[in-house]
Amino acid sequence: MIYRPYGKTGKHVSVIGMGGMRFGEDDNYGAEVVRHASANGINYFDTAPYYNDDRSEDIFGKAFQKMPAPFYVSTKSSINDEKTASEVRERIENSLKRMNLEKINFYHMWCIMDLDQYHRVMAPGGPYEGALKAREEGLIEHLCFSTHCKGEDIQRIIEEDVFEGVLLGYNVINHPFRQQGVEAAKKHQIGVVTMNPLGGGLIPRHQDYFDFIREFDDETVSQAALRFNLAQDGITVALTGMGTKEEVDENIKVIQRPLVVSQGKLEEIRGKVTSFMDQLCTNCQYCRKCPSKIKMNYYMEAYNLYLLMGEEEMLQQLEWYRKKNDLKEEDLLPGDCTACGICESLCTQKLPIIERLKEIQKMMDQR
Ligand code: SF4
Ligand code: SF4
Repeated sequence: MIYRPYGKTGKHVSVIGMGGMRFGEDDNYGAEVVRHASANGINYFDTAPYYNDDRSEDIFGKAFQKMPAPFYVSTKSSINDEKTASEVRERIENSLKRMNLEKINFYHMWCIMDLDQYHRVMAPGGPYEGALKAREEGLIEHLCFSTHCKGEDIQRIIEEDVFEGVLLGYNVINHPFRQQGVEAAKKHQIGVVTMNPLGGGLIPRHQDYFDFIREFDDETVSQAALRFNLAQDGITVALTGMGTKEEVDENIKVIQRPLVVSQGKLEEIRGKVTSFMDQLCTNCQYCRKCPSKIKMNYYMEAYNLYLLMGEEEMLQQLEWYRKKNDLKEEDLLPGDCTACGICESLCTQKLPIIERLKEIQKMMDQR
């Protein structure tokens, strides 16, 4: 394994970190996978309340009981659920108990979407205040934030100098839009952990299209995507979800190749990553709270194909999905959207979901 210093914390963390949202049904096996990752040199473990139907922290807790130190744990609290200092305190105590830990190494103010939300996190009596007090008392070590903001907003938050690290979505597709945040983190010497190196599964699901990112004949598209993150100056850790021991082994193979991307390949990638690629749905599924029960994450994924390959591929995907799920024609109507806006307010990519649903309906009607 390769280790890098995490900002100014004095900690050295593995360049590949284990994301804890891809465990299967069996908690005991999940704990085994965590220990397998640890035995193979991974020492950065990222979890959160609610991951894996709220089992993730418990699975890590099981694993940690039989795991040799040192290892570093990251978890989170969200302004949407813990709005006050005392609620954050309660959440921290709960996470510690579930994971059988005395302290959390990296505690994140979770999923800051914009500067308005950041200011609510920092307000007197708010989440940051609760986390700061917990740090003074030794319950957490380092205060960080996770974000889906654009680069310029990430930079503004980092410049306030209140966090020791940042966790952000970064991958071969969206990196031009996040680069400013990475540069700011580098300048302020704070740790950068990237999530979503595979674009929420988008890259492996469209391997033919993304084949151009590979540089070695024997590397997979997914490995090339992970290596891309690890090759970027300023990035400390690339998180990747691992549900099986085999996935751990596959991911670790990435460090057997040089963690660089050749200039020629970089130019090729930048040439293909046009501005619309930041408009792709990453299938994170944060938006799945539609009162009309529209599966808009599914429609947005189909819309990705429209952007990448055209209308026909998108309509074929819709047809495939309808058959696979044995849905009736009327279950599939994006036109049933009432434009309430709930999904758009939750969308981590800030996609114009309502407009896209209208467009999809129009294409379906014209077929
Ligand atoms: S805007 Fe439409 S798709 Fe989004 S939550 Fe509201 S009804 Fe559902
Ligand atoms: S539409 Fe937005 S929130 Fe929903 S799955 Fe796609 S990126 Fe995630």
